[in-house]
Amino acid sequence: MPSYTPPLRDQKFIVHEVLDAVNVLRAAPRYADLDADTANQILEESGRFCAEQLQPINRSGDQEGCRYDAASKAVQTPKGFRAAYEAFCAAGWQGLAAETEYGGQGLPHLLHIAFYEMQYSANQAWAMYPGLTTGAYELMLVHGTQAQKSLYLPKLVSGQWSGTMCLTEAHCGTDLGMLRTRAAPAGTDGRYRLTGNKIFISSGEHDLAENIVHLVLARLPDAPPGTKGISLFVVPKFLPEGDGAAARVGARNAIHCGGIEHKMGIHGNATCQIVLEDATGWLVGEPNKGLNAMFVMMNGARLGVGVQGLGLNEVAYQNAAAYAKDRIQGRSLSGPKAPTLAADPIIVHPDVRKMLLTARAYAEGGRAFAYWIALQADLQEHHPDPETRKFAADMMALMTPIVKAFLTDNGYNCATTCQQVLGGHGYIAEWGMEQFVRDARINMIYEGTNTIQSLDLLGRKVLQDNGARLHAFGALVRELIEECGTDPALNEFVTPLADLGEKVQKLTMEIGLKAMQNADEAGAAAVDYLRIVGHLVFAYFWARMARVALARIAADGTQVDPFYVAKLATARFYFQRLLPETAFHIRAARAGAGSLMALAAEQF
Ligand SMILES: Cc1cc2nc3c(=O)[nH]c(=O)nc-3n(C[C@H](O)[C@H](O)[C@H](O)COP(=O)(O)OP(=O)(O)OC[C@H]3O[C@@H](n4cnc5c(N)ncnc54)[C@H](O)[C@@H]3O)c2cc1C
Repeated sequence: MPSYTPPLRDQKFIVHEVLDAVNVLRAAPRYADLDADTANQILEESGRFCAEQLQPINRSGDQEGCRYDAASKAVQTPKGFRAAYEAFCAAGWQGLAAETEYGGQGLPHLLHIAFYEMQYSANQAWAMYPGLTTGAYELMLVHGTQAQKSLYLPKLVSGQWSGTMCLTEAHCGTDLGMLRTRAAPAGTDGRYRLTGNKIFISSGEHDLAENIVHLVLARLPDAPPGTKGISLFVVPKFLPEGDGAAARVGARNAIHCGGIEHKMGIHGNATCQIVLEDATGWLVGEPNKGLNAMFVMMNGARLGVGVQGLGLNEVAYQNAAAYAKDRIQGRSLSGPKAPTLAADPIIVHPDVRKMLLTARAYAEGGRAFAYWIALQADLQEHHPDPETRKFAADMMALMTPIVKAFLTDNGYNCATTCQQVLGGHGYIAEWGMEQFVRDARINMIYEGTNTIQSLDLLGRKVLQDNGARLHAFGALVRELIEECGTDPALNEFVTPLADLGEKVQKLTMEIGLKAMQNADEAGAAAVDYLRIVGHLVFAYFWARMARVALARIAADGTQVDPFYVAKLATARFYFQRLLPETAFHIRAARAGAGSLMALAAEQF
């Protein structure tokens, strides 16, 4: 049976020692009273919830799946999901980072992201229900009218009502400009009637919450074609009566689940066809600006999905490491390491170690990166200095596609690598590894495929602003290199970091010039480019982590905590064994579009 232990030691290392997050956050008046003990308590308590309530129902949830009843159009979630959801809401976890004005706890996004990581390690399918509610809350907070906010936000913050995002239709996933769901004004009280069919809607119907608040993209009668003609509507499953925390559910709305998908993984999460038959909805934000408004939810979801990749990466690593210490097969090439046993534990074999260290280095690097981005989200919203807010916003924009794609590619690859550590047993359901692989696969697809993320990074986030945001991140990298420049012990980390920084600069200019002649050149290079910049970001955080570890090892002498020794060894592994992957991707990115576009479509 798989197990999960919240990685509290590493989380605290990143929050306190690498990011110095509590002090950084205290500069914002909202977090002036935050202290390290509170942050640690939240990590510990939320970790306990994940390990004790969510992890035990992960495998059973996968086996049982969701059940759809065609007569009532209802979805039953797997056994235990509802009880865990009730406990989650009762403890106030849904509102961890939400505004106190709407019943939230007003704590930093950083702690929320750390909680998410643990939820996704413990049970991704379950965690997607409250995850989408957070997205709906964030969208309504930014784009809702005051009346909409006071009606919906307290219910979303408490978890009494849950949220969804309804974008995809059968004929349009990536290209939302083609969507057909229609919305027509109905009377003078701001109501609209919506008709259409959505597919693949996560958490679209379930038995966890009293009401489901669907955020639906649709077209108004006079809408221009394409993405400029999309509007956003709130379409609740039950029409609300009253206001604020006192609001109640009224009549059933004409929006229902037409069926659920039978899919590769995340079986405990209902992926729904959603049918709107003259359903009542209300416009959110301005007409025809719906896609723009939806981006609040989509960007939040992209970060969340990246953290799903991280969560599965971590839990797969934990289980593979435990197995490798226990399973005995063969002898170490350099002589027996467990002579009293019939064979050595497989952890003696260099390649098993390579697999484990690959997963570990990607999990720990991903954690530092994701938590830093969550910190930027807090600074962007609450820091008093406008320059700091702008820098944070630029980093959020630049890094969102990298968090989403790099962390989910790593998450899936590491899940299969860890499955390999278990040999044939990794392929057998009982060990849980094959579920991690199946669950991790969707993260590379939804919320904009990873190809779309790479186009967003290279096209919109880098080339369109002449590399200004990338340059701002480069300044952070240079600052670190200068700070470390005088310490020879750090050379092995900062020299390859500096080298990659220069290569990224050159490559960006090269692709930019080629793309001006032929836009397919950007499309041909984008996926490799994201992988290269992802490594630049990871190399930066691994160098920072190595610096902290080295300082602690030097300061602690013979009393050194093995945690720092392991951190340093993992940093070395990252720089020697994973970063060199960039050489391949730089070559591939330079190869250009020629060989990709040479064949006519009918030759495939
Ligand atoms: C389990 C699950 C849950 C989901 N949850 C939700 C949800 O809650 N809400 C929601 O609205 N949607 C949801 N989706 C839909 C998901 O976001 C889409 O499947 C995804 O965006 C891709 O769209 P598509 O499936 O239509 O693929 P397509 O858009 O048809 O893409 C097919 C392939 O073509 C590539 N491609 C497409 N356009 C381009 C381009 N311009 N350049 C380069 N390559 C391109 C893609 O990368 C992909 O490899 C979910 C899907 C699944 C499977």
